Amino acid sequence: MPTVQCNVTTCTHWVPGFLCGAEKLDILMQDPRHMANDVRQTECKTFALRSSVANIIGSMDNANWGGALEEPFLKGTQLTPDVTCVIKTCRYWVQHDGCNADRIQITGEEARECQDTHCATYAH
Ligand code: SF4
Ligand code: SF4
Repeated sequence: MPTVQCNVTTCTHWVPGFLCGAEKLDILMQDPRHMANDVRQTECKTFALRSSVANIIGSMDNANWGGALEEPFLKGTQLTPDVTCVIKTCRYWVQHDGCNADRIQITGEEARECQDTHCATYAH
């Protein structure tokens, strides 16, 4: 199972340290009728736009809150969501919708919807 690095800070699952706090991650193609053939045709389906209430909480200037979140990860207990991926054209795809990359990078700064996110580790 790959570790996940993510820079989609607008996602409700995003955790300081460029981590993903979701338990399960679904990587799909943007158009369900067509298999993805490049990075831009992939998406993180688990993306969920941070709600306005969460934004208010998240914007509270409380250093301990951030520190409490970051500390366990900095010490090496890496968050590792279960990754399910249907992108069979990717060289890292394995049977039963798995991914055998050591690490995947999810991109999409300022994303507002799933289509704005991508698995940047996708490769032929
Ligand atoms: S965009 Fe995907 S990988 Fe990134 S934090 Fe959200 S659910 Fe996790
Ligand atoms: S690296 Fe490839 S197989 Fe792994 S999640 Fe990304 S697109 Fe899917």
